[in-house]
Amino acid sequence: MNKGENQSSDLELIADKVFVRQYLDKIPENLPLSEQENADYESKIIALLAEKNAALVAHYYTDPLLQALADKTLGCVADSLEMARFGSNSPASTLMVCGVKFMGETAKILSPDKTILMPTLEATCSLDIGCPIETFSAFCDQHPKHKVVVYANTSAEVKARADWVVTSAIAVDVVEHLLDQGEKIIWAPDKHLGRYIQNKLGAEDDDILLWDGACIVHEEFKLKALEDMKHLYPEAAILAHPESPLAILDVADAVGSTSQIINAAVNRPEKKFIVATDAGIFYKLQLAAPEKEFIMAPTSGDGATCRSCSHCPWMGMNTLQNLYESLLHGTNEIHVEVELGKQAMVPLQRMLDFKKNN
Ligand code: SF4
Repeated sequence: MNKGENQSSDLELIADKVFVRQYLDKIPENLPLSEQENADYESKIIALLAEKNAALVAHYYTDPLLQALADKTLGCVADSLEMARFGSNSPASTLMVCGVKFMGETAKILSPDKTILMPTLEATCSLDIGCPIETFSAFCDQHPKHKVVVYANTSAEVKARADWVVTSAIAVDVVEHLLDQGEKIIWAPDKHLGRYIQNKLGAEDDDILLWDGACIVHEEFKLKALEDMKHLYPEAAILAHPESPLAILDVADAVGSTSQIINAAVNRPEKKFIVATDAGIFYKLQLAAPEKEFIMAPTSGDGATCRSCSHCPWMGMNTLQNLYESLLHGTNEIHVEVELGKQAMVPLQRMLDFKKNN
């Protein structure tokens, strides 16, 4: 494969691709529980967490019920890196990771001696499955002089093949640091974030080779509908995650990771925000800035290829029910082969050290 991004048309959405569609088609519908059923599950989970010396770690995009339970039990609600970092510092011997599979793997890589459980092992990510190790490794082999920088949303194998792992919060800084040293870069897997970094740093196309991956949720945000919404709420600021298409990022007032979006909402003077990222973040946004108003950025609505637009269908597979079952029976444990974990830890540690020093 050569410079993967050029091989696809911009009109070809990732969610239309067969390899993603086959995963999406396997997602079961979740039937909502009654308030009483939710409360029963919550109290049983709280008891099990104590009994098993376990901590609950949830991503911002999971069901607000899970985020609230993580807060209530002094676990953690965060982005993928902070989830893993919290897990490695936690005295708990078991971590229940609510999110998608690469998050469980990252937690295991950072905490190899802990038991890592997940409500489901079927929850994946279009960025992860769109970057299979065999083809990605072959692509890297074709460009042996390039530094390989991968996003956290990748498998343990892809992380182990990389020189650097980054999150959206520090992606621009790390790539800038490498370009300043005269390095050329392979960026994977999110092409929108890669293009955003290219533009932000004024890098030449040849300086950063982009892998052709995208997030099915962020890719659905549409410029025309966003502009229409902005006419309705001219006083609102637009906050966008950099996995969104460049046209969205160009009109955003602030672009950043989930944590940076929350900080922007708290610190910016506006009282109203149009938010282009997964709807799960509204739980923390409303807690962090209760006096402000948040409006979901529009997607292509009924035409959306993502099953539950503005919400990641894989994040939505985490429920109180399967969390309880996993904790009770110790099922859905994440395993990362020891040597692979050590290799993947090298680029992860580089990121942690970089963050500490910058
Ligand atoms: S929201 Fe997008 S990037 Fe996040 S897990 Fe879902 S598919 Fe992956």
